[in-house]
Amino acid sequence: MLSRLRRMKPRPASVPAESAPVFWIYRMSKSIISDMDGVIYRGKQLIPGARDFVNRLTQAGTPFLFLTNNAEQTPLDLRLKLESLGINGVTEDNFITSAMATAMFLRSQTRKAMPTAYVVGGAGLINELYNVGFSISESRPDYVVVAKSQTFSFEQIKKAVRFIDQGAKFIGTNPDMIDPIEGGGYEPAAGTLLAAIEAATGKKPYIVGKPNSLMMMLATRKLGVHPEEAVMIGDRMDTDIVGGIEAGMGTALVLSGVSSRESMEQFPYQPDYVFESVAEIDPQAL
Ligand SMILES: [Mg+2]
Repeated sequence: MLSRLRRMKPRPASVPAESAPVFWIYRMSKSIISDMDGVIYRGKQLIPGARDFVNRLTQAGTPFLFLTNNAEQTPLDLRLKLESLGINGVTEDNFITSAMATAMFLRSQTRKAMPTAYVVGGAGLINELYNVGFSISESRPDYVVVAKSQTFSFEQIKKAVRFIDQGAKFIGTNPDMIDPIEGGGYEPAAGTLLAAIEAATGKKPYIVGKPNSLMMMLATRKLGVHPEEAVMIGDRMDTDIVGGIEAGMGTALVLSGVSSRESMEQFPYQPDYVFESVAEIDPQAL
């Protein structure tokens, strides 16, 4: 058996003979798909050990992607945010946001040359919709697209409700009800705004972000791997972990965001791994 294994997997020439184990079984390290908020940072605060974690990924050449339900910021904004926290070596290609996924989804759904949307949300979302040929309109738009917005107003909810009543399709970027903020605590997020519009219209939004498998599929497609070759790392059971499980990925929950060990145990599904934070994660060991 041993000699057969040796024949099948020859020892690489670069490894000195004295340090070589008895036989070699090659194990490809998994690709990493990681959430950001509650995993890498909380609001504007870096989670201790996150910088070293990203360094371990970049230095080992592990294929990785940040998959975030944050629709407020563009990949450039997110890269600059990481750099301001001392995390370097990440390119704009390393991000997929729910705004990007929403724009790609809507483009694939419409045959119109100039589709229109009314947007409740920030520059990140509007930017992505422009990128795929949408124009922003308040005249019978085809879609009402809702994301977390720091400037959500009664005027916006009134317009969103009116356009949906007139027949606009109701789309949400992500279902998160709350987002963790620096120093502990949380603030309302996209799901809260969607709930208000849903209550007024009686219509349910179609939500693109995690745990929708559209997001997971975009991530594995971008990495060029099969789901079983990837591990999803996140702080939320109801988005990151369930999305990873349903897509067929490995899953790792970190307790540095919204989940605790107690809240995790309430769910009917469980992650493959649980860590206090990414500081404990050796990507090669997943
Ligand atoms: Mg998170």
